[in-house]
Amino acid sequence: MPTRWLLLIVGVALTRAGELQDVKEAQLRYKGAQVLRVEAVKNNVQKDVIKKMQDEQVVDIWQIPAVEGGTQVDIMVPAVSLKQVKATLKNVSATFKVMIQDVGAAIRNQNPVLKEGNNKRMARKGHRMTFQNYHRVSDIHGYLEYLARTFPDLVSVQTIGSSVEGRPLKLIKITGSNADPKPAFYIDGGIHAREWISPTSVTYIIQELVENRDKYKFMDAIDFYIVPVVNPDGYEYTHNGVRLWRKKNTCAGTDLDKNFGYKWDGAGSSHDPCQETYAFRNFVSSLGVSVRAYVTFHSYGQYILYPWGYDKKVPPDYDLDRIGKKAANKMREVAGASYTVGNSASLLYAASGGADDLAKGGSRIKYTYTIQLRDRGQYGFLLPASSIVPTGKEAFAAIQTISEEIAADG
Ligand SMILES: [Zn+2]
Repeated sequence: MPTRWLLLIVGVALTRAGELQDVKEAQLRYKGAQVLRVEAVKNNVQKDVIKKMQDEQVVDIWQIPAVEGGTQVDIMVPAVSLKQVKATLKNVSATFKVMIQDVGAAIRNQNPVLKEGNNKRMARKGHRMTFQNYHRVSDIHGYLEYLARTFPDLVSVQTIGSSVEGRPLKLIKITGSNADPKPAFYIDGGIHAREWISPTSVTYIIQELVENRDKYKFMDAIDFYIVPVVNPDGYEYTHNGVRLWRKKNTCAGTDLDKNFGYKWDGAGSSHDPCQETYAFRNFVSSLGVSVRAYVTFHSYGQYILYPWGYDKKVPPDYDLDRIGKKAANKMREVAGASYTVGNSASLLYAASGGADDLAKGGSRIKYTYTIQLRDRGQYGFLLPASSIVPTGKEAFAAIQTISEEIAADG
C-alpha cells in the first residue's frame, strides 16, 4: 500500500478518534448541567467574575441581552461546577435564576424521532422536509433540489462552493416571473451551528415563497436568494453529539470587545476567516447594487436588530426602525410571540452574525436586519421541535413585511 494512503487512513482514524472524544466530553458536560440567567450584571466586579469563569471554561455564555439597569447573561454550568459557580455569583451579589434544570434532558427532548420513516415520506413526496423536527443538511438540501425539479420556472439551486469538510454550499434562487433582473433580497440562516431554529425557519420561508407564491403580490417584484445553511459542517457536528458546539462559529466575528470592553465570548476574540461565510458574501457582492435587503436569522431572544452594531449610531436615512416595528406587529399577529426591535449595539452584546458587517462594508443594502428567533430563554438553543412551525410563520411574516416595502419602493 502506498505510504500516502496509509497516512491518509491513519489521519482519518485519528480524526474520528478525536471526534469521539469530543462527543464523550460533551455528553459529560451536558448531563445535569443548568442554564442560569444572571439577572442584571451591573459592575465590573460581577463582569470580571463571569468573564473569568468563561475564560477558564467553567461556564459557557449563551446570550447577553442588554436590560434595564445592566446586562443579563445566560450561562450554562456543568453539574460538577454548579455549587461553586452559584457561590461565586452570590459572593459578588449577582442574582440569578435557573432557566434550564437539566441541559442533557432538554437536548434529549428537543428533537423527537418521527413516527413515519423518512424513506416512506421521501417516496411519497419527493423530499424529507416535515417541519415536525429538526432535519439534517442533506434533508434541507434535498428539499431545495425537490423544489428546483418541481418548479423549474420559479426555482433554481446553485452550489457556489464547498465547506472545509467538503459539503456543498447551496443557494436557492426564487423568482416570481422571468422579467428582467429585479431587486434582490438575500436571506441566510445557520451561520451559528447550535442555533437550530434558524435553518429550519429559513427553509420554512422558502416553502412559503414557492408553494404559496400566488398569495403574495411582491413575488413579481423581487428575486430571492436564500441560503438556509451557511455553515453545514458546524450544523452537522451539532447533530452528531456535540449539540452546543460553537468553536467553528468564528466566521461572523463579533465586536464584543468594542461594545463591552471585555472578551465575553471566545468566538469574539478570533477573526479566523470562515470559508462558508466568505463564499456567500462574495456571491452577494457579485449581485451588486441590486441587493435591496439582507436578513440573517439567528437565535435566541426574540429581537429584530438593525445596524450599526458597533457605535450606537443609526444610519440617518434608513427607515429601519419603523419597518422593524411593522414586522414585529405582523409577527405577533401570526404566531403570538413578541419581538423587541432596536439597534444591535443597544440591545444585544452577543454575536449578531454579519448583517452589520455587510452593511458596514459599503454594500449600501437598504434593509438590513439580524433577527434573533425564539425563544426568550426558557429553552434557548434547545427550543423544542414543536415550536418550528410558529417560529417559521413569524420568520416569514418578517420577510413578507420587508418584501412589501421593497415592492412599494418600486
Ligand atoms: Zn447567531
